[in-house]
Amino acid sequence: MVELERMWNRRWRKKEKRRRGDRMEEKVPLREFHKTVKGLTRAQTSLIIQARSDHLPLNGRLHMIRKSDTDKCPRCTERRGGERAIENVQHVVYECKGHARLRQKLWKEVGKVNATIRELTANTEHAKALTDFLISTGRLGKKWEEREAAERLREEERGRVMETIEEEE
Ligand SMILES: [Zn+2]
Repeated sequence: MVELERMWNRRWRKKEKRRRGDRMEEKVPLREFHKTVKGLTRAQTSLIIQARSDHLPLNGRLHMIRKSDTDKCPRCTERRGGERAIENVQHVVYECKGHARLRQKLWKEVGKVNATIRELTANTEHAKALTDFLISTGRLGKKWEEREAAERLREEERGRVMETIEEEE
């Protein structure tokens, strides 16, 4: 968890500094991080950090690190200036028509249409809704779906064990 916290902070600071040119806000994001990841699985926490820094394994990113032949979104034919849309966090969360129904569900869950990434990662419930959305798009690959499912199962089992212990006491 300490490592994830470092990642969160590092990426945040870099972006914040570029944008604002000051350091006054540095303490807020760390508090926000603790508040957000409380109650998230490790897989969910990683996803949230990647979503905030646009490091999700979508074609835009994969192409940059030479793990995909294309940076374009395979789920739609949206074009910008004659070019098909690049598949990044912005496109998947806010624009892609291929995820319109899932997106509606997401806005309903967080109670706000077009909530910003910061808003979507500002508390546990929103962050869970966002990770559910991202995994449901099927664009993160089997690895994430399996990791998330396995962690949930483990948590449920842990919950059952705890309940049994409490009952016996
Ligand atoms: Zn698309």
